[in-house]
Amino acid sequence: MTALAAVLGFPVGHSRSPAMHNAAFRAMGLDWRYVKLPVPPERLEETVRALPASGYRGVNVTIPHKLAALEIADEATEAARAIGAANTLTFRDSRITADNTDAGGLLDTLGESPKGRRALVLGAGGAGRAAAWALKEAGAEVLIWNRTPERATQLANELGIEATSEPTEADLLVNATSVGLDPTTTEEQALRELRLSTVDCRLSTVLDLVYGDSPPAVTRWASKAGAHVIDGLEVLVRQGARSFQLWTGREPPLDTMREAARGADPAAAA
Ligand code: NAP
Repeated sequence: MTALAAVLGFPVGHSRSPAMHNAAFRAMGLDWRYVKLPVPPERLEETVRALPASGYRGVNVTIPHKLAALEIADEATEAARAIGAANTLTFRDSRITADNTDAGGLLDTLGESPKGRRALVLGAGGAGRAAAWALKEAGAEVLIWNRTPERATQLANELGIEATSEPTEADLLVNATSVGLDPTTTEEQALRELRLSTVDCRLSTVLDLVYGDSPPAVTRWASKAGAHVIDGLEVLVRQGARSFQLWTGREPPLDTMREAARGADPAAAA
């Protein structure tokens, strides 16, 4: 029987995960199929509980289900528990295990350990939490800035990191806000909204978690300044690769996944 995996979200039409995972299954000769499941919040729990009996081995969860998925799971990894959100559920031996591969995926994109480096995370939402926790765990000195300062302070207290009221220079700058998601956002707007106008990023690595069909505003700004830029699609690929490994136990074909994610037409990927 074909093994199944899925991404559960609401909406979920934009997801590039089906194209990425289906390409990986094909490349590895696995009889697996990955689908999109649009699930409203009030149907999440019953849907998740019904999936294992229907041949599903695991799912990714995305907006708005990452917190609820953690609650539904029978057990959770330290990453998922500490971040307070799950993006991957694995179904095995009648148990549901929650993990957060966004955190490890982000570290994988860096290529080298951030230990001892100064990292500034912009945004204290779900992505900011995962980024800040991952970087702290990996030994970076982490500062967090958020438009609504109370959220930055609260997250800083929870994770034992520092909140900052103004973004400053850092070895690693992570945009974990949704600024730039709207493709019409200009660089000037983004810099104003993120208070980056006076920040010099020439010597920084800039990781813009936002991605789209064309380079988003923070990516454009950092590229022009000459920073080392890592785009959000690479984080998508790396978190997906970790989910793939959890479900199949196989080494993920990274190049295949990257190529499929970059080439994916989300509207067409079933
Ligand atoms: P979220 O929980 O809704 O958080 C949104 C964050 O953006 C908050 O910190 C919010 O600040 C901030 N923000 C929104 N509009 C802003 C503005 N105009 N100026 C300054 N800050 C603003 O969303 P999320 O799940 O963390 O996702 C954030 C971004 O990361 C999204 O673009 C998402 O697509 C991306 N993401 C990418 C990946 C990947 O694999 N590449 C994975 C996860 C998420 P306030 O607290 O002040 O509202």
